[in-house]
Amino acid sequence: MSDVFADLVGQDEAVVELRRAAAAAAAVLRAGAADRAPALLTAGAADSAGPAGAADSLGPAGAAASGGVDPSAGMTHAWIFTGPPGSGRSVAARAFAAALQCVHGTGCGECPGCRTTMGGTHADVRLVVPEGLSIGVGEMRALVLRAASTPSGGRWQVVVIEDADRLTEAAGNALLKAIEEPPPRTVFLLCAPSTHPDDISVTIRSRCRVVPLRQPPADAVAEVLVRRDGIAPDVAQWAAAAAQGHVGRARRLARDPEARKRREAVLAVPRRLTGVGAAFDAASALIEAAEAEAEASVTDADTTERAALETALGAGGTGRGAAGAMRGAAGQLKELEKRQKSRATRAQRDALDRALVDLAGFYRDALTMALRAPVAPVHTDTAALAGAGAQKWDAEGSLRRLEAVLACRAAIEANVKPRIAVEAMMLALWKG
Ligand SMILES: [Zn+2]
Repeated sequence: MSDVFADLVGQDEAVVELRRAAAAAAAVLRAGAADRAPALLTAGAADSAGPAGAADSLGPAGAAASGGVDPSAGMTHAWIFTGPPGSGRSVAARAFAAALQCVHGTGCGECPGCRTTMGGTHADVRLVVPEGLSIGVGEMRALVLRAASTPSGGRWQVVVIEDADRLTEAAGNALLKAIEEPPPRTVFLLCAPSTHPDDISVTIRSRCRVVPLRQPPADAVAEVLVRRDGIAPDVAQWAAAAAQGHVGRARRLARDPEARKRREAVLAVPRRLTGVGAAFDAASALIEAAEAEAEASVTDADTTERAALETALGAGGTGRGAAGAMRGAAGQLKELEKRQKSRATRAQRDALDRALVDLAGFYRDALTMALRAPVAPVHTDTAALAGAGAQKWDAEGSLRRLEAVLACRAAIEANVKPRIAVEAMMLALWKG
C-alpha cells in the first residue's frame, strides 16, 4: 500500500479520520455536480461527527446547511493538526490535501491530483512554510485573498499553514476572518504543536476540527526508514530510538555523518563537565555548533535567493530608468535581508533545540536507570555512561539535571538569550 497516507507513521486513528473526511469531501463534489450548484461545507454537522466533538464550531456555513442527508458529514473546512515536533503534522496535512485533490477522492498516490499535491506543484494547494520567527499579516492577507478564488482544478482550494503557532496576532486575525466566513470550496489545514492558547488562538481553534497526532513509536519510525529510505534495519532501529520519535531527525541521523558527529559532541557534554571553566566552555561549544549548523543550512538558500532577486530586478542594467529601478531594488533587497536574518535566527534556535533534546534524552536515560524502570534507553550508544551517571547522581540528581535541560529549552522559547540560558544550564548540570 503506497497511497498518500503511507508515510504518516504510527498515526492509525488520524489516518482513518482523514480517509473518511476525504471520502465525504468527494461526496460533496459529486452532489455539487449533480445539483449543478456547489454544496457548502458544513462545519457544524461535520464537527459533531468528529472525535474532537467540537459543537462550538457551527459557523455561518453550518447555519446555512440545508436539512436532510448531508453529504459533507465527516468533512469540514478548517482543521488543526497537532502533535510533538517530528510526529508528522505537515506530512498529515499534505497527505490530506492530496486526498482532497485526488480524482478518486481517496488519496491513491497515483493520479495527477495526488502527485502534483505531494510534489508541491498543484495549482489549488498553497503551502505556507514560515522561514522566520513569525508569519506576518501581509503574507496572510494575500493568501486568504487567493484562497477565496474558484479552484482551477474543480475540486478544492487548500491552504496548508505549517507552524501556525508562528502567526502574528494580526495574521491570526486575518486568517480567522477567512475561517469564519469560508469560501465554499476552500479548506484550511493548520499545523501547530498543540491547541494551547499560546500556540493557536482560542477563536481559531473553536472553528477548526483537531486531529491530534502522537509521538510515533520507534519501531514504526524504523520500519518506514527501512521501507521508504532503504536504510539498513540495525541503523534504522538505532536512529529511530535516538531521534525520540522524530521521523525527519531519525532519517538525518541515519544518513548524514555530520548530523551523527554533532549528536556525539552533544552527548559528550555530560562527561566533560568537570568544573566551572569546563561548564562555560561546554556552553560556548554548544552555541557555536548550533550557529555553524544553522549557517550551513541557510547559506545556500540565501545566496540563491539574492542572485534570483538581483536578476529579476535587472541589477547592473544601464539603460534609461535603471537608476529608478535600482532605488526600488534597494528596498526589496533590504526586505530580503531582513527575511533571511529572521530565518537564520530560527535555524539557530532549531539547531540548539535539537541539541537540547538529545541532552535531555541522556539525563532521561540516567533517570530511568536510577529508577530501574523497564524502558529502553533513548541513546543506546551512551547507555553505559548514563548508567554510570545514574549510580553517581541517583534518581534525584538525574531528575534535577533533566529539569535543568528542560528549563533551558523553556527559557530560550521565552526569548532568554540562548548563551545565557545555556550557561545557566551547564552550571546546573555540573553542580547537580
Ligand atoms: Zn489520487
